[in-house]
Amino acid sequence: MIDLRSDTVTKPTKEMRQAAFDAIVGDDVYIEDPTILELEALAAKKLGKDAAMFVPSGTQGNQIAVLTHCVSGQEVILEADSHIYFYEGGTIAAFAGVQPRTLKGNHGAMNPLEVEAAIRVDDIHQPETGLICLENTHNRAGGAIVPLENMKEIYEIAKKHNLPVHLDGARLFNASVATGISVEEYASYTDTIQFCLSKGLGAPVGSIIAGTKEFIVKARKWRKRLGGGLRQAGIIAAPGLVALNKMVDRLADDHEKAAILASGLGSVKGLEIENKVDTNIVLVNTKEAGIFADQFIEKLKEEEILAVAFGPYTVRFTTHYDVTNQEIKQVLEKISKLI
Ligand SMILES: *Cc1c(COP(=O)(O)O)cnc(C)c1O
Repeated sequence: MIDLRSDTVTKPTKEMRQAAFDAIVGDDVYIEDPTILELEALAAKKLGKDAAMFVPSGTQGNQIAVLTHCVSGQEVILEADSHIYFYEGGTIAAFAGVQPRTLKGNHGAMNPLEVEAAIRVDDIHQPETGLICLENTHNRAGGAIVPLENMKEIYEIAKKHNLPVHLDGARLFNASVATGISVEEYASYTDTIQFCLSKGLGAPVGSIIAGTKEFIVKARKWRKRLGGGLRQAGIIAAPGLVALNKMVDRLADDHEKAAILASGLGSVKGLEIENKVDTNIVLVNTKEAGIFADQFIEKLKEEEILAVAFGPYTVRFTTHYDVTNQEIKQVLEKISKLI
């Protein structure tokens, strides 16, 4: 099977497995796991934040951020197709008790003027705005890079209104590698940030959330409440260290593979590329070919290719280090014969 469903399907490298084997560990609930502490310090340094914390998943990292920033009854401003709104099981409502205020973005970027207009005024009838969430790269917008300038404008509006900003940066390293803008610079326009070690960076498990020391102290309590307090977690943090130290620059290869895939699929009659293909995600529209995304995916499966449906006619392909250029070529050959 050539698995292009997601960059989460990557298997840990040999070096990651060895690092897990060799990891010096302690009890992380007592904040005594040296490998976890090393990973958190490295992540905080890379992001230019005071403190960072390892969490078992990106979803938990985002939820901890919402829980830490907000109190129930507040409202969170976020993009209408954002992961926090679309793919996290309604958790911000179920656990944090906040209501989402969604704004439709342009390639994943919300209009700063619309963000400012959505901030609630002081009125007994209205919920208070508690948080603004950004996403970069934007998953459902096809791995779209949200421009630094857009983040800066929204951050300045947030500060003017005394509001915190959280960045769902699950794939922030993809944005950084593609633009040459450091993750630290992106992170300077958000108060807190979550990024995934387990996607294109290839670690088997885990995400990081980062912010001020005070934020992380509170976040640590929420992590424990959610069942995310792990014991000898250095075993899973050690591959994360390899991911951060060795796997960042090679994300450029994934972007190149996505570009090759997009240019090949775009020239297949009946298929259309929906996104700009800024990074490692390609969204293919099947409407002209007269086939639904679900049916197309079934056909692909028979050809030993895996992808996911993103809409009635939208299929998502994601490149990652476990797929070779040769396999991308095979995918293009097979699909051109299918349609
Ligand atoms: C994958 C993803 C997450 C969640 O990560 P998990 O580790 O799968 O929970 C959050 N935000 C975005 C944008 C993602 O793509």
